[in-house]
Amino acid sequence: MKECKICIHTEKTKKIIGDLCIDCLTYKKYPIDFDKLKKEVEEVIKNLDKNKKYPCILAFSGGKDSIIALKILVEKFKIKPLCVLVNNKYLSQNAIENAINITNYYGVDLFIINKDFTQLFNEVIKKGESPCRRCSRLILREVWRVAKRFNIKYIFTGHEIPFGHSAIRDMKEGIKMVRLLSPYKIKEDEKYKLLENLPFKKPNLYGYTTNCLVLGVALERFYEKYGFSFEIDRVATLVRLGLLDKEKAKEHIKKPEVPKEIYEELRKRGLEI
Ligand SMILES: [Zn+2]
Repeated sequence: MKECKICIHTEKTKKIIGDLCIDCLTYKKYPIDFDKLKKEVEEVIKNLDKNKKYPCILAFSGGKDSIIALKILVEKFKIKPLCVLVNNKYLSQNAIENAINITNYYGVDLFIINKDFTQLFNEVIKKGESPCRRCSRLILREVWRVAKRFNIKYIFTGHEIPFGHSAIRDMKEGIKMVRLLSPYKIKEDEKYKLLENLPFKKPNLYGYTTNCLVLGVALERFYEKYGFSFEIDRVATLVRLGLLDKEKAKEHIKKPEVPKEIYEELRKRGLEI
């Protein structure tokens, strides 16, 4: 099977021309200017109103990326955001504990919104589709509401892949979302090093997540239907940007073997699986 020389796409998942996939070919033609992303992000941070109780919001999931985003905001930029965690009923207990412990450690406020995404997950998993896009859209909607209520203009997130060629995207009514990690190109191993001295316990979840209980099962079902992982594009992008080794990336996109206990836990919380 033809394989892309740069990322992990094969002809099964992406069109390959010569020895590169079309995404890598496009990227070679229009690479991301990381210095520009950095300027964008740091300009926003410089202009935050530091006299406000909450100069910005951090969308906080208790997963490793949002924790690193908090670390950067507090340690590098001396900003204390309001951390907003939307608990969709399917976060691991461990992630919630991490969120509480880390925000305590940094002395920042954590606002937890309890929601129930059971219906969404049941629907999507039954069809063998990915729940991620719809789940994150709903979560961001809740975070946006908090921003609106507290009159906060910027929502930072722990995403590392920019919006195309920018770290910032407009939301409704003048509120902007900033992908804080996108300029800094932090590799997977470095992330765990950055977490070392923090009260972070790595959950025993497979695949890419350090917080979501549903992901494994969703990946499994999708895999059974399509024969590959719905994470392929995101993981391929990480490889293309040099954030993840090819070998590790291939591990990430294998079909997960979700342990029985996770199934039991999910059923207990309301999933019909
Ligand atoms: Zn490629």
